[in-house]
Order: sequence, then C-alpha cells, then structure tokens
Amino acid sequence: MSNDILVFVELQNGDIRKVTPQLVSAARPLAEARGGKLHALLVGEGIGELARKAATLGVDSVAVVEDPSLADYTAEAYAEAITQASKRLGAGALLFGNTSIGKDTAPRVAQRLGVGMISDVTGTISTGGNPIFKRPVYAGKAVTHVEVLESSFVISVRANSYPSAPAAASPAPIQSLAVAPDPSKIRTKVKEVVVRAAGKVDLTEADIIVSGGMGVKGPEGFEFLRPLAEVLGAALGSSRAAVLAGYIHPSHQVGQTGKTVSPSLYIACGISGAIQHKAGMSTSKCIVAINTDPEAPMFEIADYGIVGDLFEVVPPLIEEFKKLLHG
Ligand SMILES: Cc1cc2nc3c(=O)[nH]c(=O)nc-3n(C[C@H](O)[C@H](O)[C@H](O)COP(=O)(O)OP(=O)(O)OC[C@H]3O[C@@H](n4cnc5c(N)ncnc54)[C@H](O)[C@@H]3O)c2cc1C
Repeated sequence: MSNDILVFVELQNGDIRKVTPQLVSAARPLAEARGGKLHALLVGEGIGELARKAATLGVDSVAVVEDPSLADYTAEAYAEAITQASKRLGAGALLFGNTSIGKDTAPRVAQRLGVGMISDVTGTISTGGNPIFKRPVYAGKAVTHVEVLESSFVISVRANSYPSAPAAASPAPIQSLAVAPDPSKIRTKVKEVVVRAAGKVDLTEADIIVSGGMGVKGPEGFEFLRPLAEVLGAALGSSRAAVLAGYIHPSHQVGQTGKTVSPSLYIACGISGAIQHKAGMSTSKCIVAINTDPEAPMFEIADYGIVGDLFEVVPPLIEEFKKLLHG
C-alpha cells in the first residue's frame, strides 16, 4: 500500500453527493501529511460526465470503474469493484461518506482489504504521525478520539462535518480502470428501483432542517411546518414518535434509529429532546428549540430557545424569514 488516499465519490440521482467535496477537504491534509496523492473513485455505468465533474473537486486524479453490473447499487458488486480499484491504485487509506451506501460498503471494503475502519468520523484531531479522528459514541453523549495505528485504514465521514473543498482551477486527469466484480461473487441483483417522491432537500446532507415532533399534533402539523422549511430551503425532519403516530413517512426520522444529521441550523418544533433523538442531531452547528415546556431536554443543547406554542411562533418566523431572505 502506498501513501495515496482514495475518496469514494457516491452518486445519487445522476449527480455527485454533497458529502464528496467535504471528503476531499478531510482527505487533503491526510494526503499531504503522508506525502501521497489524492484520488477520487467513481463506480457505475455511463458516468463519464460525472467523472468530468469529479475532476474539478480538487483531487489529484480521478479513477472510473464502469461495468453493467455496477449500474445499480449492490453492496457486493460495489465493495468488490472499490476493493479492486483501491488495490490497483495502491491507495493506503479510503474515505467514504457515512451515508446509507457508505455504511453498507465501507466495512465490506475494509474487510476485503484486511484493514481497520473508523465509522461516523466527525473531525480530525491530528494528521501527523498516526492520524487521530473524532467520533461520537453513546448516542452523542461523548466524543472519542480514535488513533489509527496502521498506515492503511478506511473511514466513513458524517455529512457536514468538514467544509467543502474549493473547486480546482484546472481539472484533474481521469483514468479508466479495467476492473470488474467477479459475477460468481455477486449473489444479489436489483430487479426494480422504486423511487419515492422525496422532499426537495436530502435530509442527511441538508444545510438547514426544520423538524417536528409530537407537538405538531398530527400530519397536518407537518404541512403547517412545510412553509417554514420552504422559505429556508430546508429539509423536513421528525422525531420517531411522530413517525410511529403516522404523522410523517419514516424516511424523515432523525435519531439513533433514524438518520444522523449535522446541519448548520436545526429547528426543533415540539420535540422533547429524548436522548435517542439528540443522538441523530446533537452535532448540528446551531440548534433552535420551540417548545411549550421550559423544562424540555431539547433546551439543554439549544443555542436559541423559544418557550411557546409552535402554532403561534412559526407563522411570524415564516414572515420574518421571507422578508429577510426573499426581500
Ligand atoms: C431504542 C429506541 C430508539 C429510538 N430512536 C429514536 C429516534 O431515532 N428518533 C427519535 O426521535 N426518537 C427515538 N426514540 C424515541 C424517543 O425516546 C422519544 O420517545 C421520542 O423522541 C419523542 O418524540 P417527541 O419529542 O416528538 O415526543 P414527546 O416526547 O411526546 O414530546 C413532544 C414535545 O412537544 C412539546 N409540545 C407539545 N405541544 C406543543 C406546541 N403546541 N408547541 C410547542 N411544543 C409543544 C411538548 O412539551 C413535548 O416536549 C427511540 C426510543 C427507543 C427506546
């Protein structure tokens, strides 16, 4: 293994996921500390255009693996392709987003490469010598500093934990890698992809989230919050209790058994702030809590707290944001 670093470029809905430039920004100091190059890897089929886009992300080179078996995501095919590509490039360390696909693939790649893995990294403590990364544990109650003891490793990085790397002035060279997963090792095949009409903004990568809990009182309560999300360009999140009550689809759930988010702004409306909910959002940069109960645990971690009825507080907020943001 060399000193080079490889960033896996995850593709979604015909585009590069927003976490990718953040991975580049996490990877660049590691590559510099090791005196290695920074490669971006794209896996799929018919992805030439996206490879050209990836070439402007600020990496030293782009590698592309294209094969019909990679047209739709499957864990085995992708893990095989990434492992082979990584060996071919001689990359010593690999970075993934801690997305659903990253969580599914990264450990498989680490196992195939026989290296250690740190998941859900939220920051870098040091890059010199053995790198040390930050990683929340116990549902976000504590943060561990994990030291990498070998030069080869895999990490998955929580979205919005690093700033996006600036675009490169000139595009990096692109190379095609002739590797393909061994068909005999692929035991699953995607028959059909059913796309659910999702919100305009992806929850896990959203910069702003407006989230509702049991305090919104019903499905119509989420419709009441929607204009606030729209004026802010935010994604709509929810507590698990609101999901279980049937107020909103489970894909909106934030928390220990839902999605982990780290936006710049998280507005919690009528959410008590149970530990399992905080586990998914406590690394948000700015937290605003709106709750009728001044003792609600959400206020313990809120940067701004509004004690009040969300049905009274939200409408003036929408009006003020409209004036401020849209003139
Ligand atoms: C194993 C396990 C995993 C779990 N995973 C998750 C998870 O991933 N995500 C998650 O969210 N939870 C999870 N939970 C559930 C968690 O423990 C809480 O039950 C849940 O988060 C509570 O949701 P809530 O805050 O919406 O509801 P409640 O606790 O009922 O809180 C509602 C809040 O709304 C306030 N309120 C009421 N009316 C208004 C109003 N008009 N205006 C303003 N505020 C108002 C109340 O004061 C209250 O604080 C998990 C639990 C377990 C055991």
